[in-house]
Amino acid sequence: MTKVGILGGGQLGRMLLEAATKFKVETHILENQENCPARTLCNYFTLGDINDFDTVYRFGKNLDCITIEIEQVCVEALEKLEEEGIAVIPKPAVLKMIKNKITQKEFYKEHAIPSPIFHVTDSKEELTKYIDFLPAVHKVGVGGYDGKGVELLYSKEDLSKGFDRPAVLEKMTSIKQEIAIQVAVDQTNNIVVFPPVEMVFDPTLNLLDFQICPARISTALQKEANQIATNLVRSFQSPGLFAVELFIDKSDRVWVNETAPRVHNSGHHSIEALATSQFEMLWQILLNEKLGPTNVQQPSIMVNIIGAPGYTGVAKLEGTDSITTKETFIHWYGKEITKPGRKMGHITCLGIIPEKAMETAHYLKNTIRCISEAKENTPKIV
Ligand code: ADP
Repeated sequence: MTKVGILGGGQLGRMLLEAATKFKVETHILENQENCPARTLCNYFTLGDINDFDTVYRFGKNLDCITIEIEQVCVEALEKLEEEGIAVIPKPAVLKMIKNKITQKEFYKEHAIPSPIFHVTDSKEELTKYIDFLPAVHKVGVGGYDGKGVELLYSKEDLSKGFDRPAVLEKMTSIKQEIAIQVAVDQTNNIVVFPPVEMVFDPTLNLLDFQICPARISTALQKEANQIATNLVRSFQSPGLFAVELFIDKSDRVWVNETAPRVHNSGHHSIEALATSQFEMLWQILLNEKLGPTNVQQPSIMVNIIGAPGYTGVAKLEGTDSITTKETFIHWYGKEITKPGRKMGHITCLGIIPEKAMETAHYLKNTIRCISEAKENTPKIV
């Protein structure tokens, strides 16, 4: 049986393992949190640091294939494993380039991929050189995620919010809509593209809040975005599943924001709403199987279940009794502790009416909430 290792055991790893039941595969997880979401679903669990060279190398050397569920891993160990003949998907060279937003943006520039123009900065002080370039978005090179490590700078008064480490300063786009397109590339270079989805972000947390499929955009824009995402992913020259995040600006121009070289939050609806889920698709790539179709079976909306503000502690889900339709699917990631802003699960609702998508999303978000037993700052009764 093919032995496949996954670096990281969070919710993406967990959903990948849920999909693994359809395949002949022996699954291995490396993660340093013992009670992580993927812990109970894998065949073999190794407790260890995905950023440590020896740990990753030892974990990978007896496997047939290795993949990731998070970019922040030790790429050098993956390079060595690749040299020794282990199939590393995506290729370590691509992972290394994407992992740092500076090299990722430089790659877009070199390959003429439309993406907002940018400068590279090494310190906060250097930002004063770019006052005429504002409004702009400052993004740390390495280590940012879910909007952490991103600051919007409108005027020189905002420069103090910038980062004092290597970062990109990107021209601010007047965004009309944000969309994402997943592109799958198998080990013999066949490509399959998922239908574009629309992403609606929480303005305070900068986290993906809702996702609507199909995206409410014209056929012409769909075609253009598909073309850009496909060209970009072809230029990576690597098998894998890639999520390309794009902006549509107020003049209907399409820009690449960034790419994730793995399964992604923007593709969770695919479990119920598409002919092949993003997780099955990644297994098809890893196990050299034919890639499945990606047609939309039902329009859908996906809502993240995010730890409610003011609650930290043992997680509890409320409001599920109010959901009576068979078309609503609640995914719980099995994290014991909730805290404000933590991704705890998601809900996919099928058969939505596109004009009412936002209404449905708000209803689900306000009805199903992740709280804890005791609200913070509530005096304990003794
Ligand atoms: P992360 O990797 O943390 O998700 P992103 O680079 O995707 O960070 O930025 C987070 C959000 O910030 C985007 O979804 C978008 O709403 C906003 N943003 C990022 N870049 C720009 C830009 N050039 N112009 C306007 N808004 C932007």
